[in-house]
Amino acid sequence: MSKPYISIIIPVYNEEPNLQKLLARLYPVMTALGKPFEIIFTDDGSRDRSLEILREMAQSHPEVKVIEFNGNFGQHMAIMAAFEMSAGEIVVTLDADLQNPPEEIPKLVAEMEKGHDVVGSVRQKRQDTFFRRAASRIVNITTNKMTGMQMSDYGCMLRAYNRTVIDNLNRCQEMTTFIPALAQTFASNPSEVPVSHAERAEGESKYSLYRLIRLNFDLMTGFSVVPLQLFALLGILTSVASVLFALFLLVRRFLIGSEVEGVFTLFAILFFFVGIIIFGIGLVGEYVGRIYQEVRRRPRYVVRRTYGFE
Ligand code: UDP
Ligand code: MG
Repeated sequence: MSKPYISIIIPVYNEEPNLQKLLARLYPVMTALGKPFEIIFTDDGSRDRSLEILREMAQSHPEVKVIEFNGNFGQHMAIMAAFEMSAGEIVVTLDADLQNPPEEIPKLVAEMEKGHDVVGSVRQKRQDTFFRRAASRIVNITTNKMTGMQMSDYGCMLRAYNRTVIDNLNRCQEMTTFIPALAQTFASNPSEVPVSHAERAEGESKYSLYRLIRLNFDLMTGFSVVPLQLFALLGILTSVASVLFALFLLVRRFLIGSEVEGVFTLFAILFFFVGIIIFGIGLVGEYVGRIYQEVRRRPRYVVRRTYGFE
């Protein structure tokens, strides 16, 4: 088989009801492009029949390859592992739940062939809950401000990268990451295309509210120290304000006399600042925790077996 020109990368975690439909739509799209391709699935420790289905696909389709993880290491690690085993000049990532229509892939490939090194996508008429859409808006705006990058839709995983960007991504050994942002740091000529978005075909989102918050902490702390700097700034502002307040109390004492009432107002103010301080400690903890993870240098993921690779 000739060397693939396009590698399609799909992370899979308990997607049993979606996999057949996905391949049935993806395969014709890829053959129609008329270039050699490979489809790499990473099974991220699924507990349903996903792995079995993927293994059968690898047997019946020479282009399908499977990486079997030894546990659940997360979507971004699943994609990173597949990047390392991919061979294509153009590498495209997408979700297994058919929220990213495979029919959009030729659009991304065409944009790549215009000479872009990263092609992102912007979900049109996004089919997610109001809460998810509102949260994404905030994340997109703040991340662009904090990192100085320009990306319209950080959360959309339907993206294409060229070999140079993939080789650079493979040199990154960080334990926690957010691939679209990481790739953007290596992109010299990025572009974006609008793509359609569907509701999840079957099953439920694999991201609970808690996991979503963790993921966004990865994005915020992984690509910027602005949160820490903002916090230091807030500290300075509070101390300036408290000096002014003390001055005010001093003057008041001379003019009106000492105060006793309003003690509970002071408590309220105090609790507010204590809250800010605890948040600050937590924020520092996020960075320290990540530094701790990095210095231990444990393996980021464990591959148990692979199927379909020579
Ligand atoms: N996924 C994964 N490991 C995880 C969580 C998710 O490989 O720990 C995969 C999942 O199978 C899907 C993609 O990542 O292909 C996106 O997940 P999901 O659709 O649940 O996220 P959402 O669309 O709700 O953001
Ligand atoms: Mg989804």
